[in-house]
Amino acid sequence: MATGDRADFNGILLYTKDYRERDLLVKFLTREFGKKMFLVRGAKRPKFKMRAAILPFTYGLYGGDIQSNGLSYIINDKRLDHFQAMAEDIAKNAYATYIMSLIDLAFQDGEPIPAWYDKLLVGLNLINEGFDAEIIANIFEIQLLKPFGVAPNWVDCAICHRRDLPFDYSETYGGLLCQNHWDKDPYRLHLDPRTIYYLRLFSVVDLSKLTHIKVNDTTKKTLRQVIDQIYVRSVGVTPKSKRFIDQLGKFKI
Ligand SMILES: [Zn+2]
Repeated sequence: MATGDRADFNGILLYTKDYRERDLLVKFLTREFGKKMFLVRGAKRPKFKMRAAILPFTYGLYGGDIQSNGLSYIINDKRLDHFQAMAEDIAKNAYATYIMSLIDLAFQDGEPIPAWYDKLLVGLNLINEGFDAEIIANIFEIQLLKPFGVAPNWVDCAICHRRDLPFDYSETYGGLLCQNHWDKDPYRLHLDPRTIYYLRLFSVVDLSKLTHIKVNDTTKKTLRQVIDQIYVRSVGVTPKSKRFIDQLGKFKI
């Protein structure tokens, strides 16, 4: 077996996956090494000692054997925390899982993304504390567009760069169009000013400074539709966990 580097890492557990009879694969977003897959030997044995370290919605400080290629290993856990509310609330669970699967899809394994680690930790804490999980998910969806290779211009008109006129969103121009240029795109999305306002806000909002956000149900529904449309047409990936979010949406009527 090749030996990697022994190192401590801060990790947020993204998911676990069955592997062989007694073992599990555990994917972490680490602050130091990006996303890494860990092989946890004996994790399915009844007397496995590090059970708490690999429960869903766990984060903490771990000691590991970090391989640059292939599977890494967890040696011990040094400090553990759990997002308790997510284990108990089906909607929080669904949105948190969805956000983590988007991050998993948006970045390559092993690419250090400490800013996204910090952002995910803050976002999951907000959901855990009772912030609107739908809105937190929307903020991640909008801010992840750039790593997904879609970088809409949410700042000014894509054609004339004016900022003082009503905007609409154009997929053709990859961003906003001011009222003077709406005729350039017959397929512009015809969004209302409130939806545009939140899309622009979500693109720049700093989650760590978020203290309050309240969006009415009609606008939430429109945001869901437009973000779905951008993801389907421009991003082209939909994590499996999104299906459950869609089902939750149907129950809410
Ligand atoms: Zn313009």
